[in-house]
Amino acid sequence: MTARAWRLAAFTVVLTACNGAAPPADAFLTRAERTEYRETSSYADVVDFLERAAASDASVHYTTYGYTNEGRALPLAVVGNVGDASPASVRASGKTVVYLQGNIHGGEVCGKEALQMLLRDLLGGRHGEWRESMVLLIAPIYNADGNERVNLVNRGRQHGPVGGMGQRPNAQGYDLNRDHMKLDSPEARSVARLFGEYDPHVAVDLHTTNGTRHAYHLTYSPPLHPNTPAEIDDFLRERLFPHVTGEIREKYGWEYYYYGNASARGGEERGWYTFDHRPRFNNNYIGLRNRIAILSEAYSYATFEERVLATLYFVEEILDYVHEHAADVRRIVADADAAGVTGDSLALRAVPERSAAPVDILMGATVEEIHPLTGRPLLLRADTQYVETMYEYGTFGPTLRERVPAAYLIPAGLGDVLTRLAAHGVAIEPAGSVALEVEAFRVDSVGTAERPFQGRNEQTLFGRYEADRVTPASGDMLARTDQPLGRLLFSLLEPQSDDGFANWGFLADRLRPGEAYPIRRVPGN
Ligand SMILES: [Zn+2]
Repeated sequence: MTARAWRLAAFTVVLTACNGAAPPADAFLTRAERTEYRETSSYADVVDFLERAAASDASVHYTTYGYTNEGRALPLAVVGNVGDASPASVRASGKTVVYLQGNIHGGEVCGKEALQMLLRDLLGGRHGEWRESMVLLIAPIYNADGNERVNLVNRGRQHGPVGGMGQRPNAQGYDLNRDHMKLDSPEARSVARLFGEYDPHVAVDLHTTNGTRHAYHLTYSPPLHPNTPAEIDDFLRERLFPHVTGEIREKYGWEYYYYGNASARGGEERGWYTFDHRPRFNNNYIGLRNRIAILSEAYSYATFEERVLATLYFVEEILDYVHEHAADVRRIVADADAAGVTGDSLALRAVPERSAAPVDILMGATVEEIHPLTGRPLLLRADTQYVETMYEYGTFGPTLRERVPAAYLIPAGLGDVLTRLAAHGVAIEPAGSVALEVEAFRVDSVGTAERPFQGRNEQTLFGRYEADRVTPASGDMLARTDQPLGRLLFSLLEPQSDDGFANWGFLADRLRPGEAYPIRRVPGN
């Protein structure tokens, strides 16, 4: 342990004492804590921790929610006043359900450690009031296969753990945070099923960031797709984030802000640019499912211990806020489900929007250290900060819209599309045999990416809709948009969606210029 680490340890003890918490029982120290933050938990460590937690407290239940590509069962702790871990019990509780996920990127390990510490604190009796209003679904190690591929040079310049960390993609080489729409990985299908069965109202996805050397200990984001229900966006941007940011500043003296990188993207002026609106990303996807989703990015160059604590504090403040507004959260989500999108004009493509006025961004600095075992450089956050004023590009505006039809007519031959819709939890029904007035998208041309991305060559379709009339064949299916997943359905099936099945090439062998896209729209009234 370095002198700085000793100081940090002392600092932590003082903070813990201020919070009035009992020191953790040795049995529930995380691997990071046991090794003075040199190492991070393995899959076996996490499973053991969750199983022991469940054995020691009647309101903690251990279960699994699917499998990785290599067959690891994905561990889940269900915490609350419920009889067991089943989705039926959780839904029947009537409580606000919050899903907390770590490690979607296997090298970004601070969420995995923070969630175990949170669970330990709950065992110790902290936050007892949360169980009155919420049930927590704690999933510390989503990309379990990636977590196990430890290498000392993964995430090279991140400040530890010096004992190494896992890799970003899963065992198939897929980035799980690009797989939420196409569902090529068993992990993404597992979590999509969890969203359907447990139906969490709130979801938090825990990462570690890199890129710009800013002065924030953690950056965050709401769902960024322009079709996100407005009330979800307002709840996060106008209520939860300002409150949580203020609490963190007051209690710990740390600054948190919206995720971004300072750059002059595309030759534009230098600005604070967020990432992407497309629902292949976890928080954007969950937003299109009408749920409140939060991205958390601990700062890569803070020490491993500080990153874990920054993440833990963020999750605690989110849960405190959701607890205080639990009924409101359930109402916002229920309203979004009930509102429906049929007939609305929604976005299929979007570009970043510039903020109305420049904002002050806290920029930071790093000092270089040498990894004691590899000899390679590491970066450590320096306690200096300065303000740089720039426009923020933190939201997205549509560049292409379409009206949401009443339904989509999907030919029986598109088995892969039907299977993936079912994996998302979208309701489909037999189309019957009565002739339907439809709109067919006449394809003028198809652009195909030269290079594969995530194993697929993305496609862009050009063309126009025209009226048509078809009689469904036996086995053809209808997907109606007046269901809670109507927003998602629209993004999955519209031919010009920038993250739909056509974009990912699932219909490539069905598309010919001059012919119709095989999925028809049923416009309705
Ligand atoms: Zn990440």
